[in-house]
Amino acid sequence: MTIRIDEQRIFQVIEERRPRSVALNGPEGLIGKIQDAADHVTEKFGIEAYIIGDTCWGSCDLNTHAAEMLGADLLFNIGHTVAMDSFGDKVFMIGAFDDIKFDSVARKCAQGLAGKYKTVSLLTDSQHLDEIDGVRKIFEANDYNVIIGKGKGQLRDAQVFGCEFYPAYNVQKQVDAYVFLGQSTFHAASIAMSTEKPTFMLDPYFEEYSQVNEFAQGLQKRAILSIYKALDAERFGIIIGLKEGQFAHVRALELKKEFEKLGRKSQLIALTEITDERIQVFRGIDAFIQVACPRIATDNHFKKPMLSVPQALALIKLLKKEPIDDFMKLQHWL
Ligand code: SF4
Repeated sequence: MTIRIDEQRIFQVIEERRPRSVALNGPEGLIGKIQDAADHVTEKFGIEAYIIGDTCWGSCDLNTHAAEMLGADLLFNIGHTVAMDSFGDKVFMIGAFDDIKFDSVARKCAQGLAGKYKTVSLLTDSQHLDEIDGVRKIFEANDYNVIIGKGKGQLRDAQVFGCEFYPAYNVQKQVDAYVFLGQSTFHAASIAMSTEKPTFMLDPYFEEYSQVNEFAQGLQKRAILSIYKALDAERFGIIIGLKEGQFAHVRALELKKEFEKLGRKSQLIALTEITDERIQVFRGIDAFIQVACPRIATDNHFKKPMLSVPQALALIKLLKKEPIDDFMKLQHWL
């Protein structure tokens, strides 16, 4: 497989905008390719191309402040294709597409699930959006009804983020199962959690398909356990993530107020990278709530309870003696 960055689009923007310097960033797995793209920019246009090496988790994590500090006129965010081509007049979203084909694994899955499910919905992440149509044809040729959920906000049709699932959530009444294209239990499991429907992942590299509901239930159980562990906390640390697209200052203040009404104290903390190591420095805090990326709390290990927004809202319900069923069955976990 080869991941191909849409360098032509980068060149086109540079030709139109004539910047004196540019910055590029993207996910860790693409850094090598981003280095190549930066070299190509400098060779072709004779301008500086800075690679921002900080983490970049998605279109929620653009690192524009870094580009500003560097004085770069434009920032190219690579590998997070969304419904928008640009943000403001300086940030351009550049596609990076994987040329791996799904035909063989899609055929295997369509034949393997025949007779079990009639209507399926196809979903994927940024890298494989171009493959949806081909896989749809394969499932249709095997007598399935195929539904492609509509995009919303930043999401294109059939696209999901790790915390946002509109194309999946909005069609759940019509579908029997979801099929996710890509080797990402991170994305596939969240579809299973937000819809509680059978969800299958097509891995094109191993040419295998697998059901992810059991794995998703494991994540969900851990999420519930953290909520119960936080039940007796007297003092919460409410963490506001400083990544620009994850900044939810108001949400943090709302939660603080809710917990105060329930007789619990809290302290507001601002952090860029929310890790177990970083939170060790805070004293006198029994449990943490972070209002940045919901997956920080559901997918990582923390010594003290760490809750995301849906978990914090579930905790509030528990403290009010209300049931918390389906607390992750949402279209957006923020
Ligand atoms: S799951 Fe986290 S990193 Fe991914 S889009 Fe949502 S907030 Fe951003």
